[in-house]
Amino acid sequence: MMKQYTAMKAKYPECFLFFRMGDFYEMFGEDAVKGADILEIALTSRDRGSEETRLPMCGVPHHALWNYIQKMINAGQMVAICEQVEDPKQAKGLVKREVVRVITPGTLIEEELMEEGTANYLAAIVPESSAIGLALCDVSRASVYLTELHGEDSLIRAIDELSRFGVAELLIPEKYEDPRLTNAIDTHSISMARYRRDFDDEWRRPKLFEDKLGVRDIAMLPFGDHPIAADALYRVIAYLERTNPPAAKNLERFTYYEPDSFMSVDETTRANLELFRSQRTGEKKNSLLWVLDKTRTAAGKRLLREIMSFPLMRRDTIEARHAGVAEFLKRPLIRVEIGDALKGIRDIERIESRVSAHAASPLDLASLRESLLRLPNLKEWAAKLEAEIFQGIFDGTEPLDELANHLSESLVINPPASHKEGGVFADGFSEELDKVREASRGGKEWIASLQLKERDLTGIKNLKVGYNRVFGYFLEVSKANQHLVPQHYIRKQTLVNAERFITEELKSMEDEILTANEKAITLETRMYEALLERISGHRKSLLHAASAIALLDLLVCFAECAAQYNWCRPTLNEGMELKIEAGRHPVIDLTQRDEPFVPNDAEFNTDDKQMNIITGPNMAGKSTYLRQVALIAFLNQIGSFVPATSAALPIFDAIFSRVGATDDLALGQSTFMVEMLECSRILHNATGRSFIILDEIGRGTSTYDGLAIAWAVAEYIHNHPDLRAITLFATHYHELTSLSESLPGVRNLRIMLQERDGEIVFLRRVTEGRAQKSYGIQVA
Ligand code: ADP
Ligand code: MG
Repeated sequence: MMKQYTAMKAKYPECFLFFRMGDFYEMFGEDAVKGADILEIALTSRDRGSEETRLPMCGVPHHALWNYIQKMINAGQMVAICEQVEDPKQAKGLVKREVVRVITPGTLIEEELMEEGTANYLAAIVPESSAIGLALCDVSRASVYLTELHGEDSLIRAIDELSRFGVAELLIPEKYEDPRLTNAIDTHSISMARYRRDFDDEWRRPKLFEDKLGVRDIAMLPFGDHPIAADALYRVIAYLERTNPPAAKNLERFTYYEPDSFMSVDETTRANLELFRSQRTGEKKNSLLWVLDKTRTAAGKRLLREIMSFPLMRRDTIEARHAGVAEFLKRPLIRVEIGDALKGIRDIERIESRVSAHAASPLDLASLRESLLRLPNLKEWAAKLEAEIFQGIFDGTEPLDELANHLSESLVINPPASHKEGGVFADGFSEELDKVREASRGGKEWIASLQLKERDLTGIKNLKVGYNRVFGYFLEVSKANQHLVPQHYIRKQTLVNAERFITEELKSMEDEILTANEKAITLETRMYEALLERISGHRKSLLHAASAIALLDLLVCFAECAAQYNWCRPTLNEGMELKIEAGRHPVIDLTQRDEPFVPNDAEFNTDDKQMNIITGPNMAGKSTYLRQVALIAFLNQIGSFVPATSAALPIFDAIFSRVGATDDLALGQSTFMVEMLECSRILHNATGRSFIILDEIGRGTSTYDGLAIAWAVAEYIHNHPDLRAITLFATHYHELTSLSESLPGVRNLRIMLQERDGEIVFLRRVTEGRAQKSYGIQVA
């Protein structure tokens, strides 16, 4: 057996090998020592002759497997599950074992191992000399995104994609090293696996594509002109084949996307604008997501995060969402009804992928049943909606009504967690099953009545009928009454105070019950498999319904924000004119209690209001204003209403920010270095359609060096013919305000304040002009 173990372990050296032995999964050697520590379980050892060669081991009971796997995954480890793949009773010699599943952070489909409402991505990166190919796969939803990045900074952009998807696990080529990638892997705690480029890839790849996608020639695929992305896809599928074969088989939705077709919000900007988490606490609380997230379903929550990672750039799609939100705002009754109908709907996409992988539990099916039963009501309300975006969203989901009925008829109300012990199917659903169950129940009733009957016959008042695993059913008689035991009782077991017997009659009834039970379980297992097949036959409809549900949930959520916070519908223009009346910061507006939030206007264009230099005292509200304008632009492009009384906005291709001073000493980069790197990135990547906020750049060095840098950056953005981006620049270098005299696009803004008897009062109002001084000493 140890030979078998060692051979398995050699195939999966990077994993903890959970080796099935009877009712336990055992770990040995090195694995056991580390595993016992992570799982906080007892470490024992097995004798191998002498004391020095004792083999460390530890084990977990099979019924608690997933709890322990959860701990392993949380600790960032991978687990290979090695099962007995033949019945030990029938095995000749050593039981055959196989690794049936490798569990890694990026290949999960199990509900209990994943966070709700988030996506869980496995990615592969293929670096070539000229480009980088990326494949990003959410195994739990059977969907894959592909892209290719070209040019000098392709790696940086690839890393941006990884962080925008929130990748859990990354496949990279063997021996490939790049400090920037290593860095990203560290900061985002991405778990990493290596793949090898082999000579036989050349023939394995077409074969794999043929198996999974039905074509041998990559050129025939929709992403055929992107061979590097296709190669990344190959790495993902090959890895899944090794780790989670059923999931590999089920991948279905392949989408090639251009990162440039979405508004770019790089990682620094995402953090600075606090889109997903607060910078101070790192928690969701007080982030934009926290304000927005009123979704009711896991699919809706996921879509919200997704749209926040991929803000739109097409005018028609943005406006279609606005129109949807507007309708929900105008028709509160429908909004409430749809909101209610959404409430009990579970994660259909993920349940579906477990069904297709034959890993769904009866509880999953019950959740699916409840969700589908809610669908007709939801559809009925959705059909009343008039906005373009809602038209036909449930088309093609008609067969699901029949599926809902089928699930209602076939499943018991509260099914068990596993189908292995039966009890999943309702009485009256299958005649065959009813008959077998009848036999078993009849037998059990007979046994239940036996106790009274035997007491009568024998006159033993305390005679008991019992059951245990080893001896089956028995009759128990206390020591004191032994003299009353009839002849035909057969002694089976002796206890301290009692004796246990069986009778011929009892034995044959027991056999009958056991065979009936066994038959029922075999039958139910067969029926269960058939039911899973039947559900996966509805795959397309289910995924379709899930998208419709997510969209409704998202737009109801946006409408509720608009209603509750008093947000307005923005209008879009083709040019670069931005005009906001009474804009607010979406988070501070809600969270600040001691001082009412003072709304501010904003007006920018590429003629005379392109570069806006804002000065004012410390603590006056400069940073807040910068972020508020950026957040309004951002909200617009995810299709939401915005915190203002009116807003006319351009469609930006990117938001860039350089805010505050953050050290990254862990990375060995000083404040100043980080600042300059980010600055350089903005200058290289921004275009005439971008929006840039610069908050006090040039602070990390001596005053005149800093001023010179800030000055040069401002001039470059203003003058470079390819740049000329709308820019909001907050600074304490009052010298910069004189740029407005020489550069036509520069205008000065200041934040008003009142000075009374040496005290200063912040008025929080932004107006044109330059501040006289910074009041740093007063504020201090
Ligand atoms: P600065 O960048 O000018 O030093 P901040 O933008 O950091 O100032 O603002 C300081 C604090 O002032 C904020 O945390 C917020 O509490 C408050 N504040 C900023 N803008 C407003 C506003 N428009 N209305 C009310 N309070 C504001
Ligand atoms: Mg500030």
